[in-house]
Amino acid sequence: MALVAGCPRCPSPVTEWERTWACGEHGPVAPLWRPQEASYDEFTRHLGRTPSFPTYLPWPLGPGWRVADFALVGAAPDEATATLTCASGTSALDGEVEVVVVAEEPGVGLGSRVAGTTASDPGGEIGQGPPVVRVRIGHQSVPLWTVSTSADDDRFDRSVVAGEAYGRWLWIVLRPASAILLLRDDWILKDVSGLGPPLVELPFGGDRPTW
Ligand SMILES: [Zn+2]
Repeated sequence: MALVAGCPRCPSPVTEWERTWACGEHGPVAPLWRPQEASYDEFTRHLGRTPSFPTYLPWPLGPGWRVADFALVGAAPDEATATLTCASGTSALDGEVEVVVVAEEPGVGLGSRVAGTTASDPGGEIGQGPPVVRVRIGHQSVPLWTVSTSADDDRFDRSVVAGEAYGRWLWIVLRPASAILLLRDDWILKDVSGLGPPLVELPFGGDRPTW
């Protein structure tokens, strides 16, 4: 199924003119590509479009967990500026849980859209005081700080942490908010770009998060 380009920062449709995309609200943007449905075929297509940009998943996925959503931002395969995945499943304490991971270049705004914050980058809380958690990516231990969302709305339905990994912003948005307790210091995010055959083992589907 052909993908429809969207705006990374809002749900508005974008217009295209000679491979330049524009949002009525945000002006010229690099287009967001998000499949209608998460599937193995769409995911291999996604990875083919982002050969040199990481796509992170919690690793390994817990029993019964699946890849429910993914997206990328960029006009061409070598121009990716952001990727997103959502893994969903159940935990004993929280019931249905969603874990959205966004890696992005500064200023893209996809992470803040998913997090529900107004500034396009994580902001001044990053690096202030001790990190709330560290996740492991490859050999790197990545410190993450809480990004408070209460100034932007009072739903308290999610927890947001963010930090910097390999020169890009890394956001993790968890629903419900209490699922933050699932994040432990031995949590691993794996860059699955270029992973190849093991992808076949991944379960896909389930409800896509709203963002
Ligand atoms: Zn927009």
